[in-house]
Amino acid sequence: MDWKAVDLCGFGRLTRAPALACTPHSREALIDTLRHTRDNHGLICHAGGRSYGDAALNSGGRVILTAGLNRVLSFDPDSGEIVCEPGVTFHDLMRDFLPRGFVAPVSPGTGYATIGGAVANDIHGKNHDRHGSFGDQVRWIDLLLPCGEVTRLGPQERGEWFNATIGGLGLTGVILAVCFALRRVPSNAVVVRERRIPHLEGFFEAFEEARSATTYSVAWIDGLAYAGRLGRGVLETAEPAETPLPARPRRRLRLPVDLPAAVLNPWGIAAFNSAYYHRIPRVGRTRTTLVERFLYPLDALLDWNRLYGRRGFYQFQCVIPDQAARPGIRRLLEEIVRARAASFLAVLKTLGGNGRGLISFPLRGYTLALDFPRRAGTQDLLSRLAAVTSDHGGRVYLAKDACLPRPIFEAMYPRLAEFRRVLEDIDPEGRMGSDLARRLGLRPAPARTNFPIQRRHQGLVPPRTTMIATRAEPAPFYNPERESPAIPRPELLSVEDAKALTVTETAELFRAHLNPGQYHFLKLLGFHEVVIESAEGMYYTDKRGWRILDLFGGFGSLALGHNHPRILATRKRFQDEKRHEIAIAFMSQYASALAKNLASIAPGDLDMVFLGSAGSEAVEAALKVAEKVQGRERSTIAYAERSFHGKTRAALSVTDSEFYQSTFRLLDNRVRIPFGDAEALEAALKRDPSIGVLILETVQGGGGIVLAPPGYWREVRRICDQYRVVWLADEVQCGVGRTGRFFAFEHEGVVPDIVTLAKSLGGGKTAIGAMIARRALYMKAYGTPKTALIHGPATFGGIGEACATAIETLNVLYDEGLIENSARQGAYLLEGLRGLQAKHPKLLKEVRGLGLMVGIEFHDFSQTLPMAIRPIVSLLDDKLKGSLCGFVGSLLLKDHRILVAFTEYNRNVIRLEPPLIAQREHIDTFLTALDQVLSRGVAGIITDYAKHFLKASL
Ligand code: PMP
Repeated sequence: MDWKAVDLCGFGRLTRAPALACTPHSREALIDTLRHTRDNHGLICHAGGRSYGDAALNSGGRVILTAGLNRVLSFDPDSGEIVCEPGVTFHDLMRDFLPRGFVAPVSPGTGYATIGGAVANDIHGKNHDRHGSFGDQVRWIDLLLPCGEVTRLGPQERGEWFNATIGGLGLTGVILAVCFALRRVPSNAVVVRERRIPHLEGFFEAFEEARSATTYSVAWIDGLAYAGRLGRGVLETAEPAETPLPARPRRRLRLPVDLPAAVLNPWGIAAFNSAYYHRIPRVGRTRTTLVERFLYPLDALLDWNRLYGRRGFYQFQCVIPDQAARPGIRRLLEEIVRARAASFLAVLKTLGGNGRGLISFPLRGYTLALDFPRRAGTQDLLSRLAAVTSDHGGRVYLAKDACLPRPIFEAMYPRLAEFRRVLEDIDPEGRMGSDLARRLGLRPAPARTNFPIQRRHQGLVPPRTTMIATRAEPAPFYNPERESPAIPRPELLSVEDAKALTVTETAELFRAHLNPGQYHFLKLLGFHEVVIESAEGMYYTDKRGWRILDLFGGFGSLALGHNHPRILATRKRFQDEKRHEIAIAFMSQYASALAKNLASIAPGDLDMVFLGSAGSEAVEAALKVAEKVQGRERSTIAYAERSFHGKTRAALSVTDSEFYQSTFRLLDNRVRIPFGDAEALEAALKRDPSIGVLILETVQGGGGIVLAPPGYWREVRRICDQYRVVWLADEVQCGVGRTGRFFAFEHEGVVPDIVTLAKSLGGGKTAIGAMIARRALYMKAYGTPKTALIHGPATFGGIGEACATAIETLNVLYDEGLIENSARQGAYLLEGLRGLQAKHPKLLKEVRGLGLMVGIEFHDFSQTLPMAIRPIVSLLDDKLKGSLCGFVGSLLLKDHRILVAFTEYNRNVIRLEPPLIAQREHIDTFLTALDQVLSRGVAGIITDYAKHFLKASL
């Protein structure tokens, strides 16, 4: 069988999925193909192409196009029982069997869907209350299992596998044949009653009556009507007609081109929706129409998905159970109206009960479906709709879905675990696969994820590959004559596996291979329940679907927020163009351009740049330049109390923490001085002429957001000039606009000799650090051809994509006015915090900061904790004892979904370093939450924390 490279997309035309595809025309060819195909990305069937999202896509893998398998294998005109291949469409059935008095028992809204697709999605129609979904009609299925065997499944034959195949999105194998019964109808027509319903409430009443009294019912809703008209629309109910209509071939209009997206503006759509509504007379009307027209209204316009232009559209369909349907559907419509995002008419229907499939969509309730053209913000809206659906006990239809967040999905489908278990049984090697399955973690974690994690330790897992031969003699190390032996593949997790790890599995691996001690600390704070699924702007979203407001900002690494679109676009373009990364042998245009940008931003003659991949590396490089300039005689480094400069050895030597320095052997040419005290600095230099280097953070981050007194930096400049000391300003944390100036030292109009940057320079997306030195110093250190290479970059210094990211970061920073925003929002935050300090003077000792680098210092409670609370506190680890920060931070996360940072040196300080894109609303949210937590008082805070802690520990 020939495999051809194809680019497929779902009906919503959102993404292109390149895959290898084949089109078998016989069952035998199909079986043969499957038996001889193995692909790490698995295989999925693609039939009518009517799934809107990624259910029938398999990027980078294999796809079987089943359109060629479209024969009816048998039909019994007495009972209506039919057996057909999966590529038969509903239009095929209508064409061949309506003239004999039969229709499909359940039909979707388009006749182009196939029987294979109907099974795989357990589709429903307008008669669900009466006849259930397609899976309820199926008598048996012949399934080609992933292992290559053929088996027959039915409600009584391998029932569990049958139930996993109904609605199983094609993941249990390839459907070869389906047996079900067509329904006898008296004619080719239906009598349709149409009524205007002025608002949503009216629909609930009308549907309650219709669902028991009529065969078919469906409503068209104006998704843009609001206020008193919210949810207005037209209800259609229908019954088979006794007398036939003359059969007329349906004229189908084809949309010749993609419409430009702008054509679908909300006003045009609102006008269309209104006309559609008013077309029905106030008293309603009754008409007889061909059954095909009633069942497949979407097919009047061929390729109608091109209406939405090249950018495509999302379809959203959910069902909300009866008991929550009124508030739930109302909330959804309100969200949609508020976003003014809906396009043409929305569809509202009722469903009669649960589908038979383990992950079937239907449940007894109301289902709402509508399209959203793809625009900025549409995905956000869809996440909100999914959250509302989930909050009301409902679920989203996977055949329509393209972006449901996995945690929300998992909460919606209660039999998911069963489904995954069956898949593990049917397809242990993961031979089936689809984009949707990977996105939502539907493929059982077992073969790939749980497999190595849960079982390897129990010794249950056979190795995936075995050595071809075992040798009695040890093989020579290298023998080109001999065929090289197969190298056994270790149990490796793929990226998809990593994405699919649950919180528990992540914790298990974290403890086993990363940092068991840190886990203990995370648990103490309640942070061990958080595994982040995605992040955007100011927010993280975790696996539970929690949106967490990020005021921690990666200790100042997220000036642009998470996943800034311009940064993503730059990196994507860079990749698409196959730009180089490692250019150690050549000059790099990206490193050169970035160096130029940094030199343009930096004041004075801070012109020469070194690029590395972390703050510590930048600090090491800076210390080396300084030492080279000063020579051995004056190589002593003065550093400040409570400083933090990194954990590599030289940086650690000037990091004032016994805790971090531990028992390591460090540089001995160093002297510690107080921070922010010019007199003490001068005295030290007088005392010790070997001091030739001074390293200081301009705002101390690790020390708990400590600012030097006004005028200090001017004094530092004067003293360093006078004593010929090289002043190294570490702005790894406080640089890149954080304090309301690009460099914090600019607040005093001074220029240091060397400055270091890292963190936010990488746009929140890459690791990069930089050192910028005054040209004269640099030239003295490394300016000759002889000395130049002492200082060449390390392997990853100036790597292509990191430089491109940093270049774009600097541009975004200025284009979006983020430095000014930092000053503005920082002032607003400090003002708010001062208000809280006045309100809670017993708790808050001081608030301080510059721009969006802010510290909140609590009073030290180690000695003054109320007696009643002491036993609780003593139960907890001594890390938190005496400090309210841990308790407050933990409650902010648990109760308010806000993340703040702590300070190792000073446990009484909470650090806030939010992205510089922060707006007032984020700050207000934080201030309200903090006020709420502080209002509980010390006793309340500690007992609430203890309650959470105990609950999590049980
Ligand atoms: N200098 C300062 C001021 C820092 O805050 C840090 C990191 N917190 C570093 C240096 C070290 O940076 P990195 O962690 O990237 O090595």
